[in-house]
Amino acid sequence: CGIFGVYGHKDAAALTQLGLYSLQHRGQESAGIVAVDDIGHARVSRAMGLVSEGFADDEMAVLQGPIAIGHTRYSTAGSSAIENAQPVLARVRRSHIALAHNGNLTNAVELRRALEDDGAIFSSTMDSEVIVHRIARATGDTPEAKVAEALQGVEGAYCLLVVLDETVIVARDPHGWRPLVMGRLADSIVFASETCALDIVGAVVEREIQPGEIVAVDSHGIRSLRALESAPLNRCVFEHVYFARPDSKVFGGSVDRSRRALGRQLARECPAIGAEVVFAVPDSSNSAALGFAEESGIPYELALIRNHYVGRTFIQPTQSGRNAKVKVKYNPVREIIEGKKVVMVDDSIVRGTTTRGLVSLVRAAGAKEVHMRVSSAPIISPCYYGIDTPRREELIAAQMTHEELVRHLGVDSLGYLSIDGMLSAMPEGPSGYCHACFSGRYPTATPADPELLRAG
Ligand code: 5GP
Ligand code: SF4
Ligand code: MG
Repeated sequence: CGIFGVYGHKDAAALTQLGLYSLQHRGQESAGIVAVDDIGHARVSRAMGLVSEGFADDEMAVLQGPIAIGHTRYSTAGSSAIENAQPVLARVRRSHIALAHNGNLTNAVELRRALEDDGAIFSSTMDSEVIVHRIARATGDTPEAKVAEALQGVEGAYCLLVVLDETVIVARDPHGWRPLVMGRLADSIVFASETCALDIVGAVVEREIQPGEIVAVDSHGIRSLRALESAPLNRCVFEHVYFARPDSKVFGGSVDRSRRALGRQLARECPAIGAEVVFAVPDSSNSAALGFAEESGIPYELALIRNHYVGRTFIQPTQSGRNAKVKVKYNPVREIIEGKKVVMVDDSIVRGTTTRGLVSLVRAAGAKEVHMRVSSAPIISPCYYGIDTPRREELIAAQMTHEELVRHLGVDSLGYLSIDGMLSAMPEGPSGYCHACFSGRYPTATPADPELLRAG
């Protein structure tokens, strides 16, 4: 998911809408904005689908006031419902709590059961709603103390934007799985999942919200609180591999730079000797394919053209929907491919559906040999920290040996980056990263029943 918030700007909701446009890649299922006006009235607008479809002019006109937070939601099948769209807005004792969450709690089922036993009523199947209830029950004497209290015992991944009355509070879990940055736009404070969303509103990046940090902003100023128990750093390596935008800085480093480093490392680990052309599967692997071309000296070409009016294929809830979509989404350029030994670079293989479809398209366009290179390690385990990878049974690299995969995908050769090679391309070096979906080594306990609650 993507989250964006503004404190102290007369056009807070309009800026938030702009910010959400830049965070659309982090979630296309639904989008929402909560705005709080000068006299403390909170209003919400949420809709299924894209940001561009979600907010009619008359709705935006209603979202008045100097405070706004927004959310783009990302998830796979099963939970596509407006009741799960965010931000959540709850009315409590003449005030309000609004919340937008990026991440996935690992003990939400237990926390929810405890709240339900205590009489709480839930209106969604989201893990995030648990936090709203806990904030409503917190007794701390400042807004940030309430949030800190609510987060004691909450496990898993969260970057949160909360509005309590007229205070904006942000929090990042102590493991730091998901990114969150703070920026300034004149006298206003802006928060966003990625720096590309600060760019679009003209805000200057101030700093990252630190893992385990809670920051509150209101008429009394900005306060930072360190009340959460510290934990080992587990930033998500997949943010750099796939999820974030290359024009963002994430975890202190440029995503474009890390993706190029991934591509260069891939060319060193799995060269494609004798290949004549390198191309990306646009857009997520463009930078990695450039890195591969730079390192290998093989010319870079734009051999696959992507139809930009089709969303990310992975979002399709059914397998048959995904198959049909590969052809709708990509078309090869025969003039580049015909009679050539080609290297196709992608950032990751999840189910293998896209890859398999693409290989057959590239062969049909006359490729002599197809060498697949992947700028991450094989994905063999689900993510429980906010990326909605499918269950292990659907992860193709968990189900097949290397030889079986080569045959299944229809490639002449297949090369994945090693886990160490992948980590070596991260900003500030290889330590402090989560790689559980690649290594199967989870840094924390995993949820008892991951199917029960959906990620925020
Ligand atoms: P596959 O061959 O596994 O069907 O698809 C691989 C493609 O899916 C790659 O191009 C990769 O960029 C993309 N991909 C990897 N992870 C995700 C994800 O979590 N969501 C979406 N929408 N696409 C993903
Ligand atoms: Fe990121 Fe994978 Fe860890 Fe999930 S399991 S947080 S996708 S590295
Ligand atoms: Mg891709």
